[in-house]
Amino acid sequence: MNPIDIMTKTDEAIEKERQFGAHNYKPIPVVLERGEGVYVWDVEGKRYYDFLSAYSAVNLGHNHPKVVAALTEQAKKLSLTSRAFYTNALGEYEEYVTKLFGYDKVLPMNTGAEGVETAIKLCRKWAYQKKGIAADKAKIIVCEGNFHGRTTTIISMSTDPDARNEFGPYTPGFVTIPYNDIEALKEALSDDNVAGFLVEPVQGEAGVVVPDIGYIRNADDLCRQHKVLFIADEVQTGLGRTGKMLCCDYEHVHPDILILGKALSGGLYPVSAVLADDEIMLCIKPGEHGSTYGGNPVACKVAIAALDVLQNENLSANAERLGKILLAELKSIRHPKIKTVRGKGLFCAMVIDDSIGKNVWDLCLALKENGLLAKPTHGDIIRFAPPLIITEEQLKECIGIIKHTLSQF
Ligand SMILES: *Cc1c(COP(=O)(O)O)cnc(C)c1O
Repeated sequence: MNPIDIMTKTDEAIEKERQFGAHNYKPIPVVLERGEGVYVWDVEGKRYYDFLSAYSAVNLGHNHPKVVAALTEQAKKLSLTSRAFYTNALGEYEEYVTKLFGYDKVLPMNTGAEGVETAIKLCRKWAYQKKGIAADKAKIIVCEGNFHGRTTTIISMSTDPDARNEFGPYTPGFVTIPYNDIEALKEALSDDNVAGFLVEPVQGEAGVVVPDIGYIRNADDLCRQHKVLFIADEVQTGLGRTGKMLCCDYEHVHPDILILGKALSGGLYPVSAVLADDEIMLCIKPGEHGSTYGGNPVACKVAIAALDVLQNENLSANAERLGKILLAELKSIRHPKIKTVRGKGLFCAMVIDDSIGKNVWDLCLALKENGLLAKPTHGDIIRFAPPLIITEEQLKECIGIIKHTLSQF
């Protein structure tokens, strides 16, 4: 028999991606074809709990009916005009999102990386027009271990060799300091050419690194004292994930520039946003920045629907309450291989002693066998981030799966 004949649907799909797709990802070997709520199904019909939620893009669960309705309805009416013309959807969305988060203006983009790029450009414009920094001298402080996306400028401020190496030459103008180190920030801020401090309130890709209580508050205060913009990248932490609408809400910090993405569309469409007040946002004039798809009518309607669901279903509160249970349960697991457990809201991570090599990958494979999908990050960390619509009963079942799987190791 030809080996092709005995290939499963799973093998076939994986083989096609291997043969025809770039090898810039190493997925868990499961081939998904359907999702609903907290569940996804593979091509063999097996059901799993989704404990990655597309890196927190699927906060509302898969295919939320209200967001699907908004998407399909608008797609039939008008999908894209570019920003060469006005639409009756964009202003409505802009009013909605600015009022919800308390900013004068929003600049709509598509991906998180574009949102970060927009924030950087906005910060630099502001630096020259408002702060009076000399041409091309503006600096932005960033943190070690950051993840802000994959563009050439953004990877220029990354400290992750995989993200950076052999992609140079790098964009200048960034100063790197250790994360969660307020003294280092103080020192970096003494440079008058500093225009902004770009930070994740919890570092997601670094492995859910939660800073000390007060770090974000103190950092924001220091930025204000030095007339430096506090720029929060809440692409992953925002929109309920950590148990508040924004992670910065925990410390009552209202960033000068707020970047949102991922869950802003409920996982149906790439939608990102940069929010700021007029003093900053109006530094960019017509023709100086934009995006063909940014602010398109489908994106606008989908984002309104997703934000409605987030509020109407009290998903931040659910994440806060169930997040406490998840963290406490994960911390209660006694296992020689677990080094640390940390998290905020439904955003938790387990650091595994990886001395023998591929433990975390194997653990994720075993979790998959037991019906729960999670992905390793940095080789020794597993992130646990279910959709925020998960119920306590479902969460308990998942904790059972995690405990049982660990006990097999
Ligand atoms: C995912 C992520 C980004 C990049 O978003 P993309 O949509 O993948 O470009 C930026 N910042 C943070 C904190 C992220 O988690």
